[in-house]
Amino acid sequence: MIFSTACEHLAAIGRDFYRRGWVLGTSGNLSVVLSREPLRVAITASSVDKGHLTEDQILEIDSEARVVNGGQRKPSAETLLHLAILQARGAGSVIHTHSVWSTILSDYHNGQGGFFIEGYEMLKGLEGVVTHEHREWLPILENSQDMTALAEETKALLRDNPQIHGFLIRRHGMYTWGADIGEATRHVEILEFLLESVGRRQMMEPQY
Ligand SMILES: [Zn+2]
Repeated sequence: MIFSTACEHLAAIGRDFYRRGWVLGTSGNLSVVLSREPLRVAITASSVDKGHLTEDQILEIDSEARVVNGGQRKPSAETLLHLAILQARGAGSVIHTHSVWSTILSDYHNGQGGFFIEGYEMLKGLEGVVTHEHREWLPILENSQDMTALAEETKALLRDNPQIHGFLIRRHGMYTWGADIGEATRHVEILEFLLESVGRRQMMEPQY
């Protein structure tokens, strides 16, 4: 994908996800791989309002998170996590949201290190899942402002959980990815739907 097309896609998705309450304020970030050899990634700049995200607020970075195209703006603080996921999973796109349900559930289930989502038809929207009987493990990492350490924890988490489609960071949000931007976008929609379903169900019956 060429940089200008990536900027168009990421800005449109950012504005759309803002309206759905998943990346309010300047929260969340989105990235897409432009090339593999050498690695070039388009990613949202730091501290930009996703409700008014524009194409010139997307940067092109290399594998060391250095800006190679995009002027004076800085990459998002969580760029190292995007790079860790893109490299560990061979993903083509990573999306990070700060939804209410990922924030609440990552706190509620933190003691177990994660939780399973199972039995929902919408699970079939996750790549490779063909039945509602699938059991999806959603691990939780403790939040940190030390992005180098968090990126290392992310790499270990992905190594230990080869089947997962996403993970949560406690009281913070969700990361998911896909082979391309369409798959990553779909995974956000599916996982956010499932998180809200699980959360609302637990409010009806806390032991559930
Ligand atoms: Zn975040």
